[in-house]
Amino acid sequence: MAIRWKDKKDVVLLSTIHNPEMVMKNNELKPKVVIDYNDTMGGVDRIDHHLAAYPGGRDSPLEYRISVIRKMFEKCCPSVVAPKVGRPGKTPHPLRLTERHFPELLPPTQKKNAPTRKCAMCSRVRDAKGKKIRRESRYCCPDCDVALSVTPCFRVYHTTLNI
Ligand SMILES: [Zn+2]
Ligand SMILES: [Zn+2]
Repeated sequence: MAIRWKDKKDVVLLSTIHNPEMVMKNNELKPKVVIDYNDTMGGVDRIDHHLAAYPGGRDSPLEYRISVIRKMFEKCCPSVVAPKVGRPGKTPHPLRLTERHFPELLPPTQKKNAPTRKCAMCSRVRDAKGKKIRRESRYCCPDCDVALSVTPCFRVYHTTLNI
């Protein structure tokens, strides 16, 4: 959720763990996320403090605000900020070109003995009509956490810089 809330200054807050819930604190009605943040930081109105310290010039106020929000997330919930590596079909594993990766059969699931998953390479390619090619594979790269057909996709995926 994202809320915009006025506390002396305008504060924009993004949170994936909070509801836009309002809480009474020190006879003031504040969004819970602001109170949680202030509690976490062990200070009062630290967000406001950060904003007040905005130096002007180099960064735009918006960029500065984003960096403040980012810092706050890095402190209180790093998992939200940390980039996820190896999400299928999204960011290719950064070390896939230098590490030694080998194809493995996808592990059996409760439902299927020989499960298949969408090949991460094929799904990046579009056919003549501009449709995404969807080809299932029984093999995956466990290090990259993507399914890949053994040939040619496994080799292409692990040898091409920009895929
Ligand atoms: Zn493929
Ligand atoms: Zn790999």
